[in-house]
Amino acid sequence: MQVVETTAGMRKLRDGLAEPVGLVPTMGYLHEGHLSLVKQARSENPSVVASIFVNPTQFGPKEDFESYPRDTERDLAMLESAGTDVVFMPSARDMYPEPYHTWVEVDTITQRLEGASRPTHFRGVTTVCTKLFNIIKPDKAYFGQKDAQQAIVINRMVTDLNMNLKVVTCPTLREDDGLAMSSRNTYLNPEERKAAAILYQSLCLAQQLWAEGEKDAERIRQEIRTLIQKQPLANIDYISIADNETLEELDEIRLPALVSLAVKIGKPRLLDNIVLE
Ligand code: AMP
Repeated sequence: MQVVETTAGMRKLRDGLAEPVGLVPTMGYLHEGHLSLVKQARSENPSVVASIFVNPTQFGPKEDFESYPRDTERDLAMLESAGTDVVFMPSARDMYPEPYHTWVEVDTITQRLEGASRPTHFRGVTTVCTKLFNIIKPDKAYFGQKDAQQAIVINRMVTDLNMNLKVVTCPTLREDDGLAMSSRNTYLNPEERKAAAILYQSLCLAQQLWAEGEKDAERIRQEIRTLIQKQPLANIDYISIADNETLEELDEIRLPALVSLAVKIGKPRLLDNIVLE
């Protein structure tokens, strides 16, 4: 496995890679969820590049950029054992040299759900992904369903801007109690960690109500709300049942529908979702 720390070095190395090239963009502090993306990329491409970059432009001023967990040595060992060929880990200065004035923005779908509470988040995500795509020129890029809106936004951008790659969305990996794996789970204390299972439980409730014939999206949102409110450590940011492409909130369930949640458990803000289809 080769580790490259500069954009110039990555460009040079890219020319020698066997094609197709699969890219797995990450912010590091890896877990099995990230590795499942690497493994899928490994099974579909002769060359696999993973990036580790805690992208400052996708964090809001009051968010956890400085304290975001980092452990490069462990990440590199995990990537190597999952069969990664190249790890690209640039510095922020290299990715955003001064002066920097160029942004890639997807509108409408970035203002909903996560975008409503994090107004500059997706601009940072789409800009950094465009830069990674331009530097690494992947044939396929792998994203997790865990961040459903991110995958939808990147897909939209790739289509709208005629980018020459395929976006692959991979299933969410979960802990034994259903909690979606996330680097931010490390912020949870033991009591909060137990309470966090409520997110997946409420998604399962939505799935069950729909399977029993409930078509009224608002009734399902309300049942989810009532269940989560029983957990004293939980604080709901949003509960959404939306069209899985436009992210417009639904009155009546139309398939495929994305049921997604953002819930604070103590301080950490956790996301999860399922698709009804
Ligand atoms: P991050 O490091 O949080 O930016 O995540 C990097 C990629 O891993 C994103 O495409 C995430 O959606 C994906 N990912 C994060 N958690 C999981 C999970 N539990 N299962 C599958 N993919 C995940």
